[in-house]
Order: sequence, then C-alpha cells, then structure tokens
Amino acid sequence: MNFGYRETCLRHDTGRRHPESPDRLRAIRRALTECHGVEYVAADDADLERIHAVHDEEYVDAFETFCERGGGNWDADTVASEDSWDAALASAGLAEWAAQEAVDGADGRDTPFSLGRPPGHHALKDDGMGFCFFNNAAVAAQSAIDAGDVERVAIFDWDVHHGNGTQDIFYDQGDVFYVSIHEDGLYPATGDIDETGDGNGEGTTMHIPFPPGASGTAYLAAVTELIGPAMAAFDPDLFIVSAGFDAHEHDPISRMHISTEGYGRLTDAVRTITDDVDAALAFVLEGGYGLDTLSDSVHMVHEVFDGYQPAPDDGDVSEDAQEVLQAVQEQGFDGL
Ligand SMILES: [Zn+2]
Repeated sequence: MNFGYRETCLRHDTGRRHPESPDRLRAIRRALTECHGVEYVAADDADLERIHAVHDEEYVDAFETFCERGGGNWDADTVASEDSWDAALASAGLAEWAAQEAVDGADGRDTPFSLGRPPGHHALKDDGMGFCFFNNAAVAAQSAIDAGDVERVAIFDWDVHHGNGTQDIFYDQGDVFYVSIHEDGLYPATGDIDETGDGNGEGTTMHIPFPPGASGTAYLAAVTELIGPAMAAFDPDLFIVSAGFDAHEHDPISRMHISTEGYGRLTDAVRTITDDVDAALAFVLEGGYGLDTLSDSVHMVHEVFDGYQPAPDDGDVSEDAQEVLQAVQEQGFDGL
C-alpha cells in the first residue's frame, strides 16, 4: 500500500497517558518495517479553503487561536498543543491525498492509506470533540466532489465509535453516503438506526449499532448483507474507509471482538464491494488504542492488498446482532 505520513502529525502533543498519542503512528511504522511494498508519501497540508468546506470558519479560527496560545484541554478528553494546528492541517491533507490518489487510479498494491493524527470522525461542523479537530475523511470526500472528480462518495466508518461528526457534516447531503458500524452506547452514544438522513440526504446515512461483544462475523455480515446492496444502489465513485481499529478484541477501550484476521476479512469484503461498483478505494486512519492491536491490524490491511488471503470465517452472528441487522434492513436502503 501507499501510506500517507508526515512527522508533523507526531507533534500533536496530547500529554502523558493520553490514549491518542504519537506512539500510535510510531507503532504502525514499526510494524510495517519488514513488509514488502510499503511506500510512504508526505502530502501537502490541506488548504484552509478545503477545511472551510466542511467546518464553520468561526470554529476553525477559534481552534487556530487556541493552539497559538499554547493549547490545553479543548474539552474533557480532547487536548491540543501549540503544534496541533499544524498537525491537523497535515492530517486533513493526508486524507485528501489518499482520496485523490484513489480517484486518480491507485488501487491493488498501490491502494492509499493516510496515517494522520489527530483523527477526525467526531469533529462536527462547528466543534472539535473525541480527540478530533478537523474531520479528515469529510475534508477528503468534499474535496473530491468540489474538484469535480467524483459525483458520489461513500464513507464506511468501521471505528468502534460512532462518527457523529461525519454524520453531522453530511446528514442532509445526497452525494455522500455515511455508514457506521459502532458499539451501541459507547462514546458519544449517538448513531441510532432510525437516523437515515434528512432532506436531500434522506436514505444516505446508515447506522449499525451492534451490542457490546459483537463478533467479526457480525461485522462481515453487515458488510455483505447491508452495505454491499446499499452501495449497489448508491453507486459511489469513491469509497473512503474511516479506519479505526478500536473494535479489535484486545483493544483497551471497547468490548467488540474483531480479531486481526477479522480485519483482513473486512478489508477483503470492502475491496469486493468497491470492485463490484467500480469505486475508487482509500483508507483514512481514525482510532485504535492498543499499540500492538492497532499496528497488527494496519499491517493486516496492508498484507491483504499485498496478496494475503485471510482464512475463511467460521464464527457466528449472535442473536442480538442479528436483530440489529434485521432492523437496519427494514429501513430500506436498496431503493435509492
Ligand atoms: Zn474510535
């Protein structure tokens, strides 16, 4: 894979013992050291104009001033330092790069994956939260649309948390389909099944809130039974994975049960869907807080694009997860 990466993102200092630390990127880089076919690309910062396309200027200005004054706690768990402004522009720029690369035809072993931080999917139009300041995937999606390169973008958020920021930004837009699988009740406790979009965006938000303990098999069923058919109807030109790895069975902050191999199967299933609808495919890093599980999982995604075939799945979908799949199905996403 081609990984977007910049040292600037290490300078976003969240203080000691914060789970979203620069060590996350260092661990991923270490895990990829021995891999075949890893390329790193240092993309440009996102232009302010691209940030303003998805965030209110007043909020962006306030965040810049906050960093200039040395940073601190933006909220209880969202921390910025003086360099966080630069890191946030770099992180958004890396996501933009990944989307553009994919749209320009990078696929297979050249599939792009942006390794930026701060992460983005909790960042609202007018506020940062949940370790996020700029919504990187949203910036990337809107940039591709505004450049006239694509008409429709899908964002599949498999981070264990609901990407309330991405939902907020695109809820009334019909040209961006946001789909999230998340642990029901976990931070920020949003993302209900019956929230399916508004106005022009009606039917282009899909929430799959699985109960704690859901298996990789349940995630795979969601991808093949719900997301695949929805994408066949929506027909995106670009498919961005908001790739958090905190649903890993050994991640310290969630109770989901995706194994490292399970992330390989999910990657494979996503690739099949995007091949079927002929959409460009790009990955954008979100969360993932166990350094080993995060780095192993990114390594696995890379391996799948380098030719590794994950072992077939032999797990079960629990009854309560099956009920969620059924309830989402009843919202009717295949008639877009
Ligand atoms: Zn997360």
